Amino acid sequence: MKIICIGRNYAKHAEELNNPIPQEPVVFLKPDTAILLKKHPFFIPEHSNDVHYEIEVVVKINRLGKHIEPRFAHKYYNEIALGIDFTARDVQEDCKKNGLPWEKAKAFDGSAAVSNFFSLESLKKNINNIDFYLDINGKKVQEGNTKQMLFSVDELISHVSKYFTLKTGDLIFTGTPAGVGPVQREDLLELYLEGKRIFYFNVK
Ligand code: MG
Repeated sequence: MKIICIGRNYAKHAEELNNPIPQEPVVFLKPDTAILLKKHPFFIPEHSNDVHYEIEVVVKINRLGKHIEPRFAHKYYNEIALGIDFTARDVQEDCKKNGLPWEKAKAFDGSAAVSNFFSLESLKKNINNIDFYLDINGKKVQEGNTKQMLFSVDELISHVSKYFTLKTGDLIFTGTPAGVGPVQREDLLELYLEGKRIFYFNVK
């Protein structure tokens, strides 16, 4: 199983980090060891003093495919979740400055928190109109809707499948809206999908 992540897929988030609006999807990977185990807290890693939360809609691939055309992409998923793409922002800034890959900033153990999955039928929602938000310690810090994506889920699947064969169980983190910021020890993160809290955990 692999975790494919999209960066800068919401214009306001690209702007808040002083990044350009991308002309094509920004893609990076996390290994399966990045998954935060269910009912475990997120431990801030020793190698960072500035770990940021990024709430994202996560799409689960349900069949094998490569070179998928956008108009067929909807056949390759039917479940979504919410996740946090934890990012060691200080390490990432160093990597960017030095032209180095991002894995130490993005792909460390526990850096991919993922809720349970929900079918689009059960949500009665179109993938391009999903509301979500993140509360930290009871205060809303990020909110978004998938209609604000620069590249839609179907466009992302088409794009990434040119480079990577998609397999059943692969996950795609589809990018974060504006409002990212640091987590502190003892923070409580609560993730809401369509107004319903579906996932929560603590930072240690
Ligand atoms: Mg992200």
